[in-house]
Amino acid sequence: MQEIVHIIGAGISGLSAAVRLANANFKVQVHEATQQAGGRCRSYFDTATDLTIDNGNHLLLSGNHHALAYARSIGTEAGLVGPKRAQFPFVDLTTGQRWQLDLGDSRLPLWVFDAARRVPDTALSDYIALMPLVWSSPGRLVGDAIPCKGRLYQRLVQPLLLAALNVDPPEGSAGLAGAVVRETLLSGGQACRPLIAREGLSAVLVDPAIRLLQSRGADIRFGHELRGFGMVADGVGELRFGEEAIALGSGDAVVLAVPPRPAAALLPGLKTPTKFRAIVNAHFRVDPPQNMPPILGVVGGLLEWLFAFPQRLSVTISNADRLVDMPREELAQAIWRDVCKASGVQGDLPPWQIVRERRATFEATPEQNALRPGARTAFKNLFLAGDWTDTGLPATIEGSVRSGDRAADLVLAMRQT
Ligand SMILES: Cc1cc2nc3c(=O)[nH]c(=O)nc-3n(C[C@H](O)[C@H](O)[C@H](O)COP(=O)(O)OP(=O)(O)OC[C@H]3O[C@@H](n4cnc5c(N)ncnc54)[C@H](O)[C@@H]3O)c2cc1C
Repeated sequence: MQEIVHIIGAGISGLSAAVRLANANFKVQVHEATQQAGGRCRSYFDTATDLTIDNGNHLLLSGNHHALAYARSIGTEAGLVGPKRAQFPFVDLTTGQRWQLDLGDSRLPLWVFDAARRVPDTALSDYIALMPLVWSSPGRLVGDAIPCKGRLYQRLVQPLLLAALNVDPPEGSAGLAGAVVRETLLSGGQACRPLIAREGLSAVLVDPAIRLLQSRGADIRFGHELRGFGMVADGVGELRFGEEAIALGSGDAVVLAVPPRPAAALLPGLKTPTKFRAIVNAHFRVDPPQNMPPILGVVGGLLEWLFAFPQRLSVTISNADRLVDMPREELAQAIWRDVCKASGVQGDLPPWQIVRERRATFEATPEQNALRPGARTAFKNLFLAGDWTDTGLPATIEGSVRSGDRAADLVLAMRQT
């Protein structure tokens, strides 16, 4: 009889595990609590702007190998688009200065040796001072590992680490920051090409996975929230969904790919991160100027990254707990003022939407990082996945896919024993 793997949660972690296992001829059942797949990485139609928008602008880099392999496996790698070279235009809203960081296309970070390509007014020695971050332990603070001041910090290190860690960089885990730096900046421009799902997160990273799973005979159930486990000896014997219970066969397995709070409620005693940070995204219905780059780094303002999509300018603000209770209209006006300065667009506030994800990511501090569990549990047929599990990376798509792949590999290993 074919073994069944139950995937709980249809976010990127759950979907990547499901796709890997369906491709290995497992019978897959996906159970998602909500009516839509994608979790924190999804698109929806927004009536305020009359556009399909994403819950948040998601930036991938060409060095996110697991995420790209996942997109390849569902046939949508070409839907992740970006410039040919790893070039990042920036503007400083306090001075109006504009510059472009050109990381080139090499496998080595040769750009740091070229004054014309590195951050303006920085010296090679500034980059060398970042080296302690590269192999730092997860328990160390970024602020104790590198100087968190000066031009290089303000213009590159701060924006990069803020986006990756979703905390003010000095309070972040140097180990997590080091992993990001190793896999991006230190791997040269070929690992740093920015990539976005221009047609939308669901169209590129979610819906094709669902279609592929269905074509492999997977059963995908929405509005199907796992409420509890029935344990037998050292494994899961039953999945409880309110009225309904599903009994597991002896070779069956479960991948629990839900966020930390439901995971802790379902598995009392499970150690998980307990603190989270918000990300705010603002979307404005306006045609981007002709010469507008697809992604613009913004320093010295309220926003950090400005994305140009067809008919829309869209903004990301990380570590945004300070903004979650601000009146929406006031926030939209304040962000729009910065968008105008950064993009050169003029005019009154166009149709807009603000999406505030209060628990966008776990807090990437040493303290919270130490609470991340691995993929194995005390139960032999139950494995964990999620951006908050111990992936060695901050909460990102790349970390999510790695966690899903790891959980799937453990299920595969279980079949072989
Ligand atoms: C605004 C925002 C911007 C971001 N920007 C970036 C970025 O630029 N780059 C990047 O790489 N990452 C970014 N991220 C992070 C990225 O979105 C996450 O790391 C990733 O989506 C997490 O996926 P996941 O599957 O681990 O968890 P989730 O997406 O949270 O998925 C968990 C799923 O489990 C379901 N679930 C919960 N409880 C149950 C239950 N009991 N039974 C069944 N189902 C259940 C949930 O409904 C959900 O669908 C961003 C996140 C946000 C919110």
